Amino acid sequence: MSIIKIFIGFFFSVLFLGSLTTCKLQHKNRTSEVIVISKKEKDSVVKYPNYLTKEYVLGKFEYTENLDFKVVPRQNSIKKTHLRKEVLANFLLMNAAAAKDEIILKIISGTRNFKHQKRIWNYKWNEKYNYLTPLNRVIKMLEYSAMPSTSRHHWGTDIDLNNLNNAYFLNGKGKATYNWLQENASKFGFYQVYTSKNTGRSGYNEEKWHWSYLPLSSIYLNYYNTHITQKDITNFKGQEFFTELQIVKNYVNGINEEVLKLKP
Ligand SMILES: [Zn+2]
Repeated sequence: MSIIKIFIGFFFSVLFLGSLTTCKLQHKNRTSEVIVISKKEKDSVVKYPNYLTKEYVLGKFEYTENLDFKVVPRQNSIKKTHLRKEVLANFLLMNAAAAKDEIILKIISGTRNFKHQKRIWNYKWNEKYNYLTPLNRVIKMLEYSAMPSTSRHHWGTDIDLNNLNNAYFLNGKGKATYNWLQENASKFGFYQVYTSKNTGRSGYNEEKWHWSYLPLSSIYLNYYNTHITQKDITNFKGQEFFTELQIVKNYVNGINEEVLKLKP
């Protein structure tokens, strides 16, 4: 078991080092310094997995029929949940380490496709917040919910753990769990992406329960940023606010600044 862990650790260390190197190169390009990366060089910098498509990052594929997705063991989730196989493998390693410290991790939500996210979104639009004007309604919904096509839950890399309420994580068991995650989750590739607004970031409210498997989600975010445009965002209520509210800049990329630095 420990040899497997060392191997996995080594593998992701290499992956991370690679990411950090490419991050530096990308940064030079983005800030328009004298160094300009040619298209050929740029293509060689970010290597996307061959399964990655626009449909993938938009959540428009059937993950239950995708062999790269596995069902989370029953005892680790509150309902039937799928994750990408790499994400599940690392979650189970993290869970085993947590259990040794008497910390219980339960997945409340994992992969959600476009249709699922649209059900959540349209319920809030049509019922929960229908007393608000359309613009105020969308802004209110965006406190905790992503527009369909823009959710990290589409990717199979992100999980909601234990309780969907920040207050739960402030005392007792919840606090012990959150402290453990802050201390240890990154050893397994998981990071809290929606953190306090005090850091000056924009976007969703803090979510102490939402953790992302960064070795993959950082690649998917980069793909999203370079391939998805307003034309790809259709077929749900309030879609017209996508441009006005700068959803890609403020929400898709409105994540923990430290985490954002690790993108490929
Ligand atoms: Zn979440």
